[in-house]
Amino acid sequence: QEALITLDKLTKYFEIGRGQRVHAVDDISFSIKEGETLGLVGESGSGKSSLGKTLMGLHDKTSGTVTYRGETLPAHYKAADFKRMASRMQMIFQDPYSSLNPRMTVGEIIAEGLRSRNLDKADTQQLVGEWLERVGLNAAHASRYPHEFSGGQRQRIGIARALILEPEFVVCDEPISALDVSVQAQVVNLLNDLKTSMGLTMLFIAHDLSMVRYISDRMAVMYLGSLVELGPAADVYFSPRHPYTEVLIASNPEPDPATERERPSTAIQGEIPSPVNVPAGCRFAGRCPKVMQVCREQTPELIPLVNEDRLVACHLYQQ
Ligand code: SF4
Ligand code: MG
Repeated sequence: QEALITLDKLTKYFEIGRGQRVHAVDDISFSIKEGETLGLVGESGSGKSSLGKTLMGLHDKTSGTVTYRGETLPAHYKAADFKRMASRMQMIFQDPYSSLNPRMTVGEIIAEGLRSRNLDKADTQQLVGEWLERVGLNAAHASRYPHEFSGGQRQRIGIARALILEPEFVVCDEPISALDVSVQAQVVNLLNDLKTSMGLTMLFIAHDLSMVRYISDRMAVMYLGSLVELGPAADVYFSPRHPYTEVLIASNPEPDPATERERPSTAIQGEIPSPVNVPAGCRFAGRCPKVMQVCREQTPELIPLVNEDRLVACHLYQQ
């Protein structure tokens, strides 16, 4: 399979004045193959959403590149770039309450991206109605307003809005974490079904590791702006190599879907450090149960493990 999208040393710093900057995304490289779902996990504040937004062009890139089907995308998107990329890449946002304009009808919201297609009104209405049905709503809902819908229904509207242009690649940024637990699985299954029927490639950002394991082919783990582990989703989930991945999985209160049994949950020690003054050496050193002297001095490189389909950035595995 070919890489659909490749990040090469992608970096996003936010300048916050007085010479200080937030290291939101720091030197991240990976590819997503066509048809693949890559899950991206990490605590809140690890930079997952910033990564998603930077690769979508919603944030300017500080350095590094994003390549899409061999084309290097601009560091700074202009309106024409968004327009050009809209039918290839789309994003589904975390909060279905704030991401839909309350003054627009559901039909207007879903049809927004279609404007550049110059469809006539009847064709637009037809397509919007079809998409409402495809996401499990009703064509008659087009004339109603977002506040008339539940959180799960609003996220279905957000999904229709993102997918009506038939993109190839979709970033799902915690698409279910604002929803009631009772509807989370329905929305994930809808995304999974659409992914299969449309042949979508996805970056699926979430903090629920068992959900990410279920939906993803590979799993990437982020800590404080850095990528610390990447491998096949089940391997990373069942035999994590990086100490941070280990504690992240141990702290995940979700029942293990394989055994349906609730695993004992251990809270991760300490707080995620500030991304403003990033510590030298390994960023996890202050919280790592396996910390060594070298960890505070040298930054571990993300390297492949011998005889394993796995990349890990940790001094336990260097040389
Ligand atoms: Fe822990 Fe050192 Fe590995 Fe960092 S490099 S995760 S501190 S063992
Ligand atoms: Mg986020």
